[in-house]
Amino acid sequence: MKQVALVTGSSRGIGRAIAARLARDGYAVCINYIEREDCARELVAQLQVEGCQVMAVQADVADRQQVNAMVRQVEEAFGPVTLLVNNAGIAGQCLFQEVSDAMWHRYFSVNVDGAFHTIQAVLPHMLREHCGCIINISSIWGQRGASCEVTYSSTKAALIGLTRSLAAELAPTHIRVNCVAPGVIDTDMLSALPPEVLPQLAEQTPMGRLGQPEDIARAVAFLASEQADFITGQVLTADGGFIL
Ligand code: NAP
Repeated sequence: MKQVALVTGSSRGIGRAIAARLARDGYAVCINYIEREDCARELVAQLQVEGCQVMAVQADVADRQQVNAMVRQVEEAFGPVTLLVNNAGIAGQCLFQEVSDAMWHRYFSVNVDGAFHTIQAVLPHMLREHCGCIINISSIWGQRGASCEVTYSSTKAALIGLTRSLAAELAPTHIRVNCVAPGVIDTDMLSALPPEVLPQLAEQTPMGRLGQPEDIARAVAFLASEQADFITGQVLTADGGFIL
C-alpha cells in the first residue's frame, strides 16, 4: 500500500523536519500550515527538486471542517493517509491567574481538539485496512509540568492520555498510536523566551545542547517504521536527558 503521511503544522520547526524526513524516506507527504504559506511552499519546492512527492494544504486544525477538507484533498492527490503526525501546536508563558478563557480554549482547540479532528478524519480508512500509524507530539512539560505553562502543559498531558487510551482501543485493529515528548528544541517556539534563557536551557540539558528539529524527526521516523511494529501506547521522550 502507498505510504501517505499527513504532518500537521509542518511549515516550520519540528513539523517541517518531520515532513522532510518522511518525504525523503519515500512517503507522499502533506505539509500543513495555518499562516506561513511562504514557508510551506518553499519546503514543497525544495523537496520536489529532490524527487519527493509532497503537497501543501492550509488548514486550522482547530476547525473540523477545515481538517476534513484537508484530508479529502490529500486522499484525492495521494490516496488515504496511512501515517498521521499530530504536531501543530501553540505555546506561551504566563501566570495561571492571568490565563484568560480565550487563551485556555484556543490552546486546547489547537493542541488537543486538533488531534481529535485529524484522527477522526483519517481513522475510517485505517479501520477498514486494519493498519495505520498515529504519532502525537506532546512535550516533556506534559510529562512533568512547568511553572507559568499550566495551559500548555495541560494540553500536552491530555495528548498523552489520548495516546494511551486510543492505543488500547485500536490495538486489536493493528493501528498503532504513540507519542513523542520533545525536550527543549531550537525552533521559533522558543523566540518568546528571553534570549539569555536559551544558553541556560542548553546547560541544564545533560547532553549539553538544545535539541534540533531533526532529533525529533528521527524519533518519529523510528516509531513510524516497521522496527516499531510491536510498539503502541508509548511516550518516547527525546530531550537529551532533560527530565531525568
Ligand atoms: P513552531 O516552530 O512554532 O511551529 C509551529 C507550526 O505549527 C507551524 O508550522 C505553524 O504553522 C503550525 N500551526 C500553529 N497553529 C496551527 C493551527 N491551528 N493549525 C495548523 N497548523 C498550525 O513550533 P515547534 O517548536 O516546531 O513545535 C511543534 C510541536 O512540538 C508543537 O506541538 C509543540 O508543542 C511541540 N514541542 C515543541 C518543543 C520546543 O521546544 N520547540 C518542545 C516540546 C514540544 P505556520 O507556519 O503557518 O504558522
